[in-house]
Amino acid sequence: MSQANLPLAPGSAIGILGGGQLGRMLALAAARLGFDVVVLERQADSPAGRTAARLIVADYADEAALAELASLTGLVTYEFENVPAASVAWLAEHGVEVAPGPRALAVAQDRFEEKSFLNAHGAPTVAFAPARTPQEAQQALAAIGVPALMKTRREGYDGKGQRWVEHAADAAAAFEALGGVPVIVEAAAEFVRELSVIAARGRDGATAVYPLAENHHEGGVLRRSIAPARVSQALTDQAERIAARVLAGLDYVGVIGIELFEMADGRLLVNEIAPRVHNTGHWTQDGCEVDQFEQHIRAVAGWPLGPTHAIAHVEMLNLLGEEADAWAKYAAEPETRIHLYGKRLAKPGRKMGHVNRVRPL
Ligand code: AMP
Repeated sequence: MSQANLPLAPGSAIGILGGGQLGRMLALAAARLGFDVVVLERQADSPAGRTAARLIVADYADEAALAELASLTGLVTYEFENVPAASVAWLAEHGVEVAPGPRALAVAQDRFEEKSFLNAHGAPTVAFAPARTPQEAQQALAAIGVPALMKTRREGYDGKGQRWVEHAADAAAAFEALGGVPVIVEAAAEFVRELSVIAARGRDGATAVYPLAENHHEGGVLRRSIAPARVSQALTDQAERIAARVLAGLDYVGVIGIELFEMADGRLLVNEIAPRVHNTGHWTQDGCEVDQFEQHIRAVAGWPLGPTHAIAHVEMLNLLGEEADAWAKYAAEPETRIHLYGKRLAKPGRKMGHVNRVRPL
């Protein structure tokens, strides 16, 4: 067992649970800082697996695999929030330092826990109510009003696991259509814009916040971010206050993504938090001196946080499905930086890469 000695010295190993594009970009950043990355991932051929120094192919709940990971590294992070809480607990019990910690994971894995935590820590959200049965779904709809958005409490992402309910009478049917699992019913946010803030907290409690990004979704999937967003100082202050409360409330270590709704009256509501690097933070790769991936590695490794101010305007465009086939067109644009994830199969809507179009400040 290799106990993490913090700050972690270059040459040490860092484990990453998950082998997707976020893990890939974390692994690349970690390698640049001199670390060896060990990826634990279910698929033999994955975006992060192909950039890691070591790859363990297994289910996240596989104890032999977790033991192998623990024998290789004393410090583990994750690239998505649906890693089993039990796996993180197992690693912690076996002397491995896991960051962000189990509380951040538990809060982010359940939309009801998440919104309850946010409201308790002075980070406002839309009104919401939980339901575990069709009857409770009806009661929740009656309390929240229509239209409302019904979401599964767990496992949803990119707009999956959610349904709009237009009429109170449809509550039970929507509940069944989502699989009869515990849900939360959310009031419809009549936002004027979707924004996000990427923030980091180090092991010493120091925090750093990137400028806000303005985000555009299509069919529940992020299509485009513009950063730094054109926002007033008051809005920035509000977002920074929210980030500070969330980070402190979770005793957080690492980078966090906080999705925000900008309301017509100038208030910011939190939509959700992601205890990891975030798609709306990809602009930092080409718009900041230290991007979100290096920042996350610095934070979990116990290094000082890096600067977060913008050094350029960036338009980040996700390349979905076959859009990544246009790499040659993007490569010919001098203002465009290309980031491809090395995924073999371009399924429709699948995130294959992104480009950052960069303009001087
Ligand atoms: P989520 O999976 O919670 O991130 O939601 C995906 C997208 O659905 C968000 O980026 C919003 O565009 C939209 N959305 C989520 N929750 C609400 C809400 N309560 N009211 C209006 N739109 C929402």
